[in-house]
Amino acid sequence: MQSLLDIRATLLCTSGYSLMLTVIILLFWRKSRGDKPLLALGIVGILSSLAGMIYLLPTPLGFWHQLVLANLLFLAASLHMLIATEHFTRQPRSWWLYVLVLLVELLLLSQDYILLHTNLRISIIMAGYVLIWLWGSWRIRQVRHGSARDSYRPLLLLALLQVAIPLLRIPLIWPVPQAMTLTQASLQGLLSLSMFWTSYGYCLFIVYRRYAGAVDKLAEQAQRDSLTGLYNQRAFRRLAERSVHEAQTGQQPLAVLMLDLDHFKSINDQHGHLYGDEVLKAVADCLRQHVRPQDVVGRHGGEEFIILLRDTPADTARHIAERLRAAVEALMLHNEHVITVSIGLAMLATEATSLTQLIKQADDYLYQAKYQGRNRVVAMPAG
Ligand code: GH3
Ligand code: MG
Ligand code: MG
Repeated sequence: MQSLLDIRATLLCTSGYSLMLTVIILLFWRKSRGDKPLLALGIVGILSSLAGMIYLLPTPLGFWHQLVLANLLFLAASLHMLIATEHFTRQPRSWWLYVLVLLVELLLLSQDYILLHTNLRISIIMAGYVLIWLWGSWRIRQVRHGSARDSYRPLLLLALLQVAIPLLRIPLIWPVPQAMTLTQASLQGLLSLSMFWTSYGYCLFIVYRRYAGAVDKLAEQAQRDSLTGLYNQRAFRRLAERSVHEAQTGQQPLAVLMLDLDHFKSINDQHGHLYGDEVLKAVADCLRQHVRPQDVVGRHGGEEFIILLRDTPADTARHIAERLRAAVEALMLHNEHVITVSIGLAMLATEATSLTQLIKQADDYLYQAKYQGRNRVVAMPAG
């Protein structure tokens, strides 16, 4: 019985779509400067478009050789999707499975008895897909807690679908083709088509995750100072505005510390700009290590740093500021150079009602700290 879906027309369409998709994926790959999962997905697209073409177009190979070659290429495309997954999840590549599946399939399909027995041939090919994606699902399960854990559920679902669909096709193939009802034949065609859909979905999902990962990385880089890795001024301000709002609505205390390295110009002049950069990095690391996770540390510019202490009363803030000052003094770069820092500390509500006022107040205290001799903390007198 003739299926409602014409297999040649279906293959022609899917090969065309694969080719278009491949071009886009390879453009993404070029833009992302050699992203390996994307290159592997580009190869998937090339293999599957090639398989469709070989199946459809007349070549000197002859029908049976073309049929075997096209099926091996489709299997290679699926195996390469597995390789793309392993690149994506940073796992060792399963080349052994690649070689094993293709060799065993080639060996079986080169037997005339199997080749001419349609049901047996298709079953053997479907078993290949089941094996590839059982292994693929197992590999994805292993990354449950790894770097690609956000992608774990959708990838596993799509991999399991790629096990289920070919598995479902095997029993449906077995009625003698002549005795197949129209519904059975259509279902076969539909299942074969849905193998393409799930493959496309799978590849596109990995492309999406690579794109989303690149966007997240850029967004993270855009809010960091490139030398110290601390929040830059713009990002600090955005986080600080939010914290000030939260502190005002929740009536929580909030402190701002302005820090400025003492006589930094002479450090640069004596030891060079590169050494100055090293000092800035060391101080930034020191500040990061000595604040709590909820506090926000930023580079205010040059050799100035700014720290926001959330939910911190004045006496605790004073204590933290003193601890930071002492920690910088204890740094002793190259076991000889003592670096000191002056700190101005201002409190929200008691001294300022907006972030701008708060920063201005902390800056005024910092100026006083410099005036009083540096290497000290100045804040509003207690009481
Ligand atoms: P004070 O104790 O009064 O703060 O004196 P100072 O020398 O630290 O202050 P001044 O503002 O005169 O000098 C700051 C110096 O910081 C001048 C500038 O060259 C240096 N600087 C600013 N940004 C960087 C940087 O990214 N790397 C290096 N190495 N130096 C920087
Ligand atoms: Mg300065
Ligand atoms: Mg300075």
